[in-house]
Amino acid sequence: MEKLTLTKLSKEELDNYIESIGEKKFRSNQIFSWIWAKNASSFDEMTDVKKEFREFLNENCQIFDCKIHTRQISRDGTVKYLIEFSDGLMAETVLMRFDNRANLSMCVSSQIGCKMGCKFCATGKNGFKRNLLPHEIVSQILLSQIDTGLKITNVVFMGQGEPLDNLDNVKKALELINKNLQISIRRITVSTSGIVPKIKELANNSLIPTLAISLHGTNHKIRESIMPIEKKYDINSLMDALKEYSSKTKDRITIEYILIGKLNDTAECAKELISILKDLKCNINLIPYNPVRDDNGFKKPDKKDMLKFKYLLEQSGKKVTIRLERGADIDAACGQLAGKINS
Ligand code: SAH
Ligand code: SF4
Repeated sequence: MEKLTLTKLSKEELDNYIESIGEKKFRSNQIFSWIWAKNASSFDEMTDVKKEFREFLNENCQIFDCKIHTRQISRDGTVKYLIEFSDGLMAETVLMRFDNRANLSMCVSSQIGCKMGCKFCATGKNGFKRNLLPHEIVSQILLSQIDTGLKITNVVFMGQGEPLDNLDNVKKALELINKNLQISIRRITVSTSGIVPKIKELANNSLIPTLAISLHGTNHKIRESIMPIEKKYDINSLMDALKEYSSKTKDRITIEYILIGKLNDTAECAKELISILKDLKCNINLIPYNPVRDDNGFKKPDKKDMLKFKYLLEQSGKKVTIRLERGADIDAACGQLAGKINS
């Protein structure tokens, strides 16, 4: 008989299950807290649960249906995990530590592969395999907490996959992260390449995360040349959806902008970017292009072009940051996650 995977269950579902097997509700509270607050990886660790019941749980249930396949640690402390799911497929997840910050951020994957086909990104290059389920998304966080003994404080949906192409499961994962793991929704960021109707749907969700947009082009022509999604939802409709999201949520949106040498890092692009963002409440996060295999001839930006671009944007009064490159030596930086076993 297949074992019941407990990370799939909400608190209410766990209560119902525990009751259905004739146990008292406080047992459900104990188990829930071991899994979600105390990082238990096995029933044997649940020392306040009576032994016979732990034996029953061992026979009939499992905490996870996925596991860490490989762990790589970067020189800068970034940890990349390859997680193996129950069907043998794998996706990567990245834990980012910043020495000077108390925050511990987890970059989770929402799909195995990606359908969007952005030209600069390694994830889509192996095609799309499947959506990840809510518990498969949240297990990435739990497994890394167990592995490191550390509590994650922030979650970003910036690993493999397009979260808004898997919105139903991502919404449920947001609930598990918020309710079960007790991470504030303000500390969760969902990054999208810009699926306009799904941005509108997310703005109407009961839990509304911070939204990050992979903009990367300042006009239709540039964006279309690097991001196929621009053909379906163009930059004008995207900007309208962002304004709607921000006015509904009162939150600032994060604009992600990869700087690709000589392609979109010019002074003209900086001016155009200022102009399209002028009515939007947002911060701008510049990401120096990280080389990936089959790089389509894309180059990293020159340092001086990058600083000039940042300076020009700052003149508009917006907050501009350059994303620190994390884990590039283990292919864990943005866009490098390809789900390879020997990366
Ligand atoms: N699919 C979502 C989230 C995952 S990608 C999205 O596209 O937003 C996370 C971020 O890494 C995105 O902003 C993405 O555009 C960026 N990225 C992809 N390839 C990159 C590369 N080669 N160099 C730098 N950033 C890259
Ligand atoms: Fe998919 Fe995001 Fe990569 Fe584009 S950048 S291919 S949407 S993961």
